[in-house]
Amino acid sequence: MRKKGNLIVISGPSGSGKGTICRALFQEVPDLHFSVSATTRKPRHGEKDGVHYFFLTKPAFENMITGDELLEWADVYGNYYGTPTEPLMKALETGRDVMLEIDVQGAFQVRNKYPGCVLIFLIPPSRAALEHRLRNRGTDSDDDIEQRLRWAEKEIGEVVNYDYVVINGEVEKATRDVYAVIKAERCRPALLDIESLLHKYR
Ligand code: 5GP
Repeated sequence: MRKKGNLIVISGPSGSGKGTICRALFQEVPDLHFSVSATTRKPRHGEKDGVHYFFLTKPAFENMITGDELLEWADVYGNYYGTPTEPLMKALETGRDVMLEIDVQGAFQVRNKYPGCVLIFLIPPSRAALEHRLRNRGTDSDDDIEQRLRWAEKEIGEVVNYDYVVINGEVEKATRDVYAVIKAERCRPALLDIESLLHKYR
């Protein structure tokens, strides 16, 4: 009954829990395709090329830009990040929802190119909670954490431009809220094959 999938963008400051929630959704939501971004940042411990990101050199990333292979791209904390267009379009055309976990600059580029997309902003309940998470996960240096907190203040100002806001005080509840958005958006008539549906009433 679906003509095509929905493009769902989730953004939020580093440490807001996007990764954890996306992993939970990956287990729970059938037919959800997770876009794998390209980046010039170095892999963290345990990250695999082609699974967590496509880890590229700067020239290779710039080739993707000039070859028009990216739906969006941005400079985040001094590294390039971008969304390869082709796999995402293929998934949408086969009726699968596609999830992008990208920053706010990228989210607005996606909205410009693909106005039917859904933007979800994930936000921790307070700055103190955000700082606590960044320090506890132990993946970033003190300088990185300071930079991420400053960046978070700017990003949070964009929350009013998103379609949905999910407060991540408790991961299970936040995951349920994001899933509720995905399910509600699946009922939009624009994504359904209304002709086939109406045919059954003739
Ligand atoms: P991290 O280096 O912690 O994995 O990601 C840093 C930031 O880059 C996060 O806010 C993440 O959402 C964002 N990001 C990851 N992939 C992309 C992408 O393809 N495009 C954009 N614009 N941002 C991305």
